[in-house]
Amino acid sequence: MSFDQSQWLWMNGEVIRWQDATVHVSSHALHYGTGVFEGMRCYKTPKGPAVFRLAEHIDRLFASAAVYEMPIPYSRDDLHAAVHETVQRNGFESCYIRPVCFYGSSVLSVHPRSCPVEVAVFAWPWGKYLGDAEDGVRVTVSKWIRLHSSMLPTTAKACGQYLNSLLANREAAAKGFDEAILLDAEGFISEGSGENLFIVRDGRVVTNDEDSSILLGITRDAVITIARDLGYEVDIRKLEIGDLLGADEAFFTGTATEVMPIREVDGQLIGNGLQGPVTRGIRQAFSAAATGENPRYDDWLSVVMTAEAEVLT
Ligand code: PMP
Repeated sequence: MSFDQSQWLWMNGEVIRWQDATVHVSSHALHYGTGVFEGMRCYKTPKGPAVFRLAEHIDRLFASAAVYEMPIPYSRDDLHAAVHETVQRNGFESCYIRPVCFYGSSVLSVHPRSCPVEVAVFAWPWGKYLGDAEDGVRVTVSKWIRLHSSMLPTTAKACGQYLNSLLANREAAAKGFDEAILLDAEGFISEGSGENLFIVRDGRVVTNDEDSSILLGITRDAVITIARDLGYEVDIRKLEIGDLLGADEAFFTGTATEVMPIREVDGQLIGNGLQGPVTRGIRQAFSAAATGENPRYDDWLSVVMTAEAEVLT
C-alpha cells in the first residue's frame, strides 16, 4: 500500500493537496476514536472508473454517524460529489476510497460538545487486502471476542471500534496466519477483523447477520444477491464453529478483500483446502459485476466523469 500517487483529496468542502490535509493533536477523534468512516472501491470499467455501490456506502456512513449523534455538515450529494472529485482529480482508473468524519479540536471532555465535525475523502491505489491467492487464506479463531451490540453499535463503522479488530488481527499475524475470525459473545462465529464470512455446505450458501455482532457488509449484500442470481439458496442464520470446520467451502467478503476463499482454520483444511466451485463462481461473478462486465449489475456502479470524458461532452 502506498499513498505516493495520491496528490489531491477533499477536506471540509474543498479539494486540497495531500500534504495540506492536517489535523491538530488535540483533535477529539485522536484521543477517543470518535469518528465514522467508509471504505469503498472504484473499478476500471468499460465506461470509465466506477465506484461500486457508492450510494449504499454513503448511506452507511450517515447511519454510522447517526448512531453516535454526529451531525455530518454535508449532504449525501455533497459527499457523492466529493468521492467523484477525489478519484477524478487524482486521475485514478481504480482505487480504494476512504471517507472519514471525525470530531476535531475544541474540547477533550468525553462529550465532544463544541468539537467541529471534520470530513475528508481520500483515495489511493490499493491491491486486494488479503492478497490474491487462488486457494485463499489461512485463518485462526481469535481469543478476542467481537464487541457485543450492547457494548457498541456493531452495525456502525466507527473508528474506535476497530481496536477490537486490531487485537484479533495482530494476534493472527503473530501466530503466522493471514487473518482472524472473531466469535461473538455467545460463542457463535461473528466475522473477520475486516470481513464478513460465508460458508458453503451441500450446495447452500450460508452467512450470519447483525444478531452475531457483524458489520452488515455491502460486499456481503452484493454476494447474497449474486449467489441467488447464480441459483444458490442462501440461508441467513447463526454460524457455529462446527459449521465452519465442517463446511465444503468458506470465504470472506469485504470491500478491501473482495471475495477470498478460506482454505484453513487453525491448521484444519476447509473442504480439500482448494478453492471450491461455488466460491469460484461467486468470485468471478462479483468481479464481473464490479468491473462493469455484467450489465445486470450496472445499477451498482457510479461512473466517474474523467477529465478526458469531460472534454468530449
Ligand atoms: N466487517 C468489518 C468489521 C469490516 O471492517 C468490513 C469492511 N468494511 C466488513 C465487515 C465488510 O464490509 P464491506 O463489504 O461493506 O466492506
